[in-house]
Amino acid sequence: MTAVAEPQTSFVTGLFIDGAWSDADQTFDDINPATGDLLTRVSSGDAAHIDRAVAAARAALEGSWAATPGAARGALLYRLADLVERDAAELARLEALDVGKPVGQPAMLDIPNAVATFRHFAGWADKIQGTTIPTAGYLGMAQTHSYTVREPVGVIGAIVPWNTPLMIAAWKLGPALAAGNTIVVKPPEDAPLSILHLGKLIEEAGFPAGVVNIVPGLGSTAGAALVAHPGVDKISFTGSPEVGRQIQKSAADTFKRVTLELGGKTPQIVCEDADVVAAINGIAMGLFFNQGEVCAAGTRILVHRSHYDTVVDALAQAADAQVLGDPFAETTTMGALVSEKQKQRVLDYIEKGKAEGARLVAGGTQPDQPGFFVRPTIFADVDNRSTIAREEIFGPVGAVIPFDTVEEAIAIANDTEYGLAATIWTQNVSLAHTLAAKVRAGAVWVNGWAAIDPALPWGGMKASGIGRELGWAGIVANTEEKVVTVVL
Ligand code: NAD
Repeated sequence: MTAVAEPQTSFVTGLFIDGAWSDADQTFDDINPATGDLLTRVSSGDAAHIDRAVAAARAALEGSWAATPGAARGALLYRLADLVERDAAELARLEALDVGKPVGQPAMLDIPNAVATFRHFAGWADKIQGTTIPTAGYLGMAQTHSYTVREPVGVIGAIVPWNTPLMIAAWKLGPALAAGNTIVVKPPEDAPLSILHLGKLIEEAGFPAGVVNIVPGLGSTAGAALVAHPGVDKISFTGSPEVGRQIQKSAADTFKRVTLELGGKTPQIVCEDADVVAAINGIAMGLFFNQGEVCAAGTRILVHRSHYDTVVDALAQAADAQVLGDPFAETTTMGALVSEKQKQRVLDYIEKGKAEGARLVAGGTQPDQPGFFVRPTIFADVDNRSTIAREEIFGPVGAVIPFDTVEEAIAIANDTEYGLAATIWTQNVSLAHTLAAKVRAGAVWVNGWAAIDPALPWGGMKASGIGRELGWAGIVANTEEKVVTVVL
């Protein structure tokens, strides 16, 4: 077993405000999920730090950044992408160490996706255009000339979760900066290290002071202060529905713009004509990737009765085959959950699943080893009204549910408060489009899982969120549209 326990460089643990690094008086402990040991102590920003960061962001918004044309903003984002690519191995290592995931996963997804996101939005920075709009004229007295422009929203507060911190930070930084906004980022307290390293790269890339500020801290202090701050024009939040709800209420006091990227209970629908082998492989990935700590994890597996036993058996085998352990060991396929709290939450849901009568066919236990590990778990014969089918577990727990007709499958798929994503496994192109139209979710994948890309809009329906990130939708979400009418 090859293990690389520690990264090669020391951790960045301070606050990045107005282009300078400092330490807060208070710190919080950052724990290694794979061992339960202390990794490092990180500066814990408070309301005063948020205040300074927002002031710096405001000054940059109206000063240096306003004077930086789109092409120059794009050049900075391209440089940042190159630096992230240069440090990809180190960033992947930090993500594995801090989140507990196998190091190959951030090396394959999180870091390349962040690079691609910065490049995608670098390209947009000098292409954000308005339109000219013909009108009926001014009160019948004069003709008019009307046009629109897209202006930055202003100072953006970005609040990031711990499951894929660098990637989601890039999803917020890329479009915000391309569109001319300045930003205060609040990294997750469970896994802040990759975003703090990114701060060093932002500094090295040469962004003007105050354009990007990073204030690590607790959600209840730094996060809440950012949301309440009257100098913040928009909150871009990714995290739990509970906190999202609080943020929307709090933001109403100052009429902040809000985008909320929240949880999910993604259905994976295996139709009668599906390529079952491909479906099983895709479903296993959708359940076990990132320890199931994925907002779009495909946790409700709806299977046509003709394939039901095959899929249940194969998923149980796939779960049992997962090798849990050191995120840096080559043999590891699944890492640790991010914290003791998250581990307990997942174990509690497993107990609820058993108590509510679902049939446990794999996992359900924690292995006898240090760290926050839970065996990947599959429940069969799950009632869609039961707790494990309704609530987001955010761990490697799948609920398999049989169906007989596509109408029934759609009814079950949509019988949820969430609407983030859905996967449809079918070889019938007509059925694929019919089901895609009927399922209420922000993203529908046919014959694949989590086919995400910076060019594609991302966000949820219903309790999965409000607004969209990425692609042109990301630019729209980070601009205010102004119309100018000249009476001729
Ligand atoms: P969380 O809501 O506990 O925390 C998310 C962030 O919000 C953290 O930075 C935290 O410090 C901060 N926060 C906590 N309380 C706050 C408050 N009162 N005010 C302001 N900020 C506060 O979520 P989490 O446990 O870090 O992440 C898991 C959740 O995130 C899951 O529900 C998951 O589905 C969701 N998620 C969604 C997406 C998506 O794109 N839709 C992506 C990843 C994760």
